Amino acid sequence: MTWGDFHRYVPVAERRSKAEQAARKLMAKGQTLEPIEIEGRSIATTFWGKAWCENLEEYSDYENRLPRGRTYARNGSILDLKISAGKVTALVSGSRLYKIKIDIDTLAPQRWASFKISAAGKVTNLLDLLQGRLSKDILAQITHPDSGLFPKPVEIKLSCSCPDWAGMCKHVAAVLYGVGARLDAKPQLFFTLRGVDMQELISAASVQASTPLAGAPKGKKRALANADLADIFGVDVDVDVDVDIDTIDEKKARQPRAKKAAVRKKP
Ligand SMILES: [Zn+2]
Repeated sequence: MTWGDFHRYVPVAERRSKAEQAARKLMAKGQTLEPIEIEGRSIATTFWGKAWCENLEEYSDYENRLPRGRTYARNGSILDLKISAGKVTALVSGSRLYKIKIDIDTLAPQRWASFKISAAGKVTNLLDLLQGRLSKDILAQITHPDSGLFPKPVEIKLSCSCPDWAGMCKHVAAVLYGVGARLDAKPQLFFTLRGVDMQELISAASVQASTPLAGAPKGKKRALANADLADIFGVDVDVDVDVDIDTIDEKKARQPRAKKAAVRKKP
């Protein structure tokens, strides 16, 4: 925080109305805004949102500078926050309106590949994955500082249009927390950000775990979970994945019959 910030202290109510004015102007220009609205004291309350914030707070590079972003994130100053592969863009209302861009390396193919191997059979459906309803073992793997899925500071490049952004200004810090809040509502964006397909965790697991007898009930359970997913997170579930898995189940189921036929032919 600089002397200028102390000198020109803007009360929360005033800041909020300024943010609303700025948002109205942008929307009048035809921009679609996705603001961060946080209810209650906690920035994030779900597995993915909390794990995102906790990961950032782990690093000594960030620990002194992050706290200044919490108030900004909580009081509605983030007018817009969008997440795409390897990138977060945001608009934050402060003394002015600031543009923030955060580049985050997508997950290295090697790291993703070895994670998928170690996670095989541990994630059975997308709903459990997105709600973090997984065993302690796999949760620890996801949040592991070296082999897990969260980015380290060295993989994160920060920038803001304000004069004192170097070394993380409060706008950038707010947006880093804002990502945690967004992941509460849309955890699937974590995988978008890291540039990987979350379905690969499920299909790998299901193919390995499937047995001929388990084929039919499993398919039904998965269909139910997928319907919940669309309701809760607005995820379009890739139907092809189910079809592929069912086909594999069927092939496996047919194998014993083929063997019996071969045995019958023998005598
Ligand atoms: Zn800034």
